[in-house]
Amino acid sequence: MQFYDHDQIDVLFDAETLQKRIAELGKQITEDFQGQGELVVIGVLKGSFLFLADLIRQIDLPVSVDFLGLSSYGRSFETSGVVRVTQDLSQPIKGKAVLVVEDIVDTGLTMSYLLSNLATRLPKSVHVATLLHKPSRCQVEVPLDYIGFTIPDKFVIGYGLDYKNLLRNLPFIGVNRGDTPPITL
Ligand code: 5GP
Repeated sequence: MQFYDHDQIDVLFDAETLQKRIAELGKQITEDFQGQGELVVIGVLKGSFLFLADLIRQIDLPVSVDFLGLSSYGRSFETSGVVRVTQDLSQPIKGKAVLVVEDIVDTGLTMSYLLSNLATRLPKSVHVATLLHKPSRCQVEVPLDYIGFTIPDKFVIGYGLDYKNLLRNLPFIGVNRGDTPPITL
């Protein structure tokens, strides 16, 4: 890929490493939800869409997919904790087994809001799968059932995660090196 500055990004997890870990998560989820019927997989937009697409192909169960759009108010790189629903689920989840799929849990504020919001809809159960977890930034403890990778306090980009709404299409997860932007338009 030529459209960004390679020298400004360190690769943290390459495509092969991501797929290997996602296959492990899919196998574990398949075992854990065996015999429970439909599993409603809810992707949190936008960042989770690539992880969700790869994860569900590793889950050997009857899965339905829905999306919830969330966006936090405040500065672009900091979660304010005030979360706005930008797109709601298309179907009720009452009485259903739900798996929330998130790209990254940082402060936990978004996930905490999301779990309270989903609980009001009376699902049978709610579990959470996150590709990345930054425990050092935790402000609210949230139950995370499936974690792809635990990472240090670095701003990561690629594989769904954005830099100013760009770079979601990088096939790997990387870290911006220094202060120079990885992309200029
Ligand atoms: P939290 O509410 O847990 O602090 O943050 C959750 C949301 O903040 C994530 O879904 C993601 O959109 C954004 N976020 C947190 N850390 C990062 C990061 O390192 N890189 C990117 N691109 N987004 C992040």
